[in-house]
Amino acid sequence: MITMKFGGTSVGDAQRLCEVAAIVRSHLSRRPVVVASAMSGVTDLLLGTARLALERKKDEGLRNTEELRRKHLEIVMALVEPGDARDRLVREQGELIDKLETLFRGVHLLGELSPRSLDAIASFGELLSCMQIAAILEARGIPARFVDARPLIRTDSSYGEAAVDIAVSNDRIRAALLPLVESGVVPVVTGFVASNAEEITTTLGRSGSDYTASIVGAALGCSEIWIWTDVDGVMTADPRVVEGASPLGEISYREAAEMSYFGAKVIHPKAMQPAIEHGTPIRIKNTFNPSHPGTLISSAGNSSAKIVKNVTSIDKLGLVAVEGSGLMGAPGVIARLFAALARVGVNVMMISQASSEHNVCLIIPEQDCRRAVEELRAELDPELARKAVEAVRVRDSVSIIAVVGEGMRGVPGIAARTFTAAARADINVIAIAQGSSELNISFVVDQSEAHRAVRAIHDAFDLG
Ligand code: ASP
Ligand code: MG
Repeated sequence: MITMKFGGTSVGDAQRLCEVAAIVRSHLSRRPVVVASAMSGVTDLLLGTARLALERKKDEGLRNTEELRRKHLEIVMALVEPGDARDRLVREQGELIDKLETLFRGVHLLGELSPRSLDAIASFGELLSCMQIAAILEARGIPARFVDARPLIRTDSSYGEAAVDIAVSNDRIRAALLPLVESGVVPVVTGFVASNAEEITTTLGRSGSDYTASIVGAALGCSEIWIWTDVDGVMTADPRVVEGASPLGEISYREAAEMSYFGAKVIHPKAMQPAIEHGTPIRIKNTFNPSHPGTLISSAGNSSAKIVKNVTSIDKLGLVAVEGSGLMGAPGVIARLFAALARVGVNVMMISQASSEHNVCLIIPEQDCRRAVEELRAELDPELARKAVEAVRVRDSVSIIAVVGEGMRGVPGIAARTFTAAARADINVIAIAQGSSELNISFVVDQSEAHRAVRAIHDAFDLG
């Protein structure tokens, strides 16, 4: 058995959906379970329409629901033969969109849009999409069944990004899906959506369908989880930055996790967890190039291959530096800095402090810099007043360069090669960090030099 997840672009138009059907057909002997996202753009459209309803922009909202109706109807008319099955699908999709309009009207009337309501509204994208995928498969002679994942995947009530109760979910997933697969039916399971103990709809967070696929694949004991997307796999670098970037054949879970920022465009970082726990390999495959083997992510991950596997720049960041002699040997200062940032909801992406303890530098999203600095200055006000802390400085427009590979652990000289490459390209390194897992060397450069740095390191390690 395998689980196959198709993302928004893979189910985004009639031609792509024909591809999906062809892919499922060609792997029927593997007994596939399909997990799918909403058609591309639909989740954004739903959330956008909910906000329009809140702002009481009725006409724009109506235009959006009409677009939704048209978008799905067009697919059904193109891909499902006239007949009872089509009539039923059109009716059921129509009823869903009617229900959605009722919800929008509710938001409009109450002038209130809670995270709970947003989840209820967002869930319609996957319901509409999976309903039609099942019908399209059936229309092509592939026995298939639409499966609403909400009764199967149990979460807490953290609307917007709920936490999954794996034990409860596993039992339900097995009970619902195994009989279908055993009778030769392809279940088409809604990604992204779930429900809490009160059976109220929740979601697993944006791009959460990968996570659904991983939960389902692990629960069913699938031999592999295939994430179908629009690239040949995880690449050595962003192909828009490095011309010679190429897909990686195999990587380990740990490498995938270290690449999570870059890889997040390919797979949701959360999707790694259930797979790791069950030792289920994840394969990234390209719907536009289905015969390509893609990237296999597993515990082995081909450690004999290259030492460094991937180099990425994370752009649009800011560097906040806290400096002063009063930081030295003062326990609890770092805790206060992090607590202050947590209070204003700022995520720290990298931290570096040299052993002099004179300077702590934190890398955060650029758009959060102002908020972060204000809060840090307030927190450190007493220290600033007595000059124990000299300054809280900020520098905009920096990038993190992350160099990732399991093979670099215990191998001397990787940092030297990395920084020699940067130096040869005349790039100034502002700050450096490496976790003791030795899987990832990260350093900070000015954003204007970031892509040059990526290319230089990609070259230096012969990644192309
Ligand atoms: N449709 C959801 C989203 O756009 C989930 C997904 O695509 O995986 O975030
Ligand atoms: Mg998506």
